[in-house]
Amino acid sequence: MRHSIKHAEEASQTAVSADTILLLFDDLGMRNTRPRRLIAEGLAALASSGTDFAVHDLWRELLEFDPSIGRATVYRAVDVLVEQGVLDRIPISSGTHRYRLCGATHHHHVRCNRCERVVEVDACLPPEVFAAVATATNFTIDGHSLELFGRCGMCRGER
Ligand SMILES: [Zn+2]
Ligand SMILES: [Zn+2]
Ligand SMILES: [Zn+2]
Repeated sequence: MRHSIKHAEEASQTAVSADTILLLFDDLGMRNTRPRRLIAEGLAALASSGTDFAVHDLWRELLEFDPSIGRATVYRAVDVLVEQGVLDRIPISSGTHRYRLCGATHHHHVRCNRCERVVEVDACLPPEVFAAVATATNFTIDGHSLELFGRCGMCRGER
């Protein structure tokens, strides 16, 4: 798959190495088992390609490398990485989640209602909008989430 230069630069900045993930597991007292190594390598590959994923699919992919890898091990590792802020968990319309290794800067996501693909969006509302909301409601605004969804190009039949 080809990426634009900008996209490739972003990917290289945000890519997390398998070693980084293994070090994190280590810090958390999780033993450095072969399944965890496979999980770390799988996630690093997903991070460098900017691909979002469902845990179930990640598990099935890892089964090809190690047929004994447990579903619970993969789910637990992903949960830990979400808690640690390494992975973003994005709710999708079917009531489950997709996961993504994103950049460290403030961002949102747009998801496709049809194929459930999730893409990182480097955009937000201007600060004036939040200031106006704060004034209008007499709230101090401590945070926000922004949900964007629609149909991706592939689902609209474009290539
Ligand atoms: Zn994200
Ligand atoms: Zn789509
Ligand atoms: Zn925002």
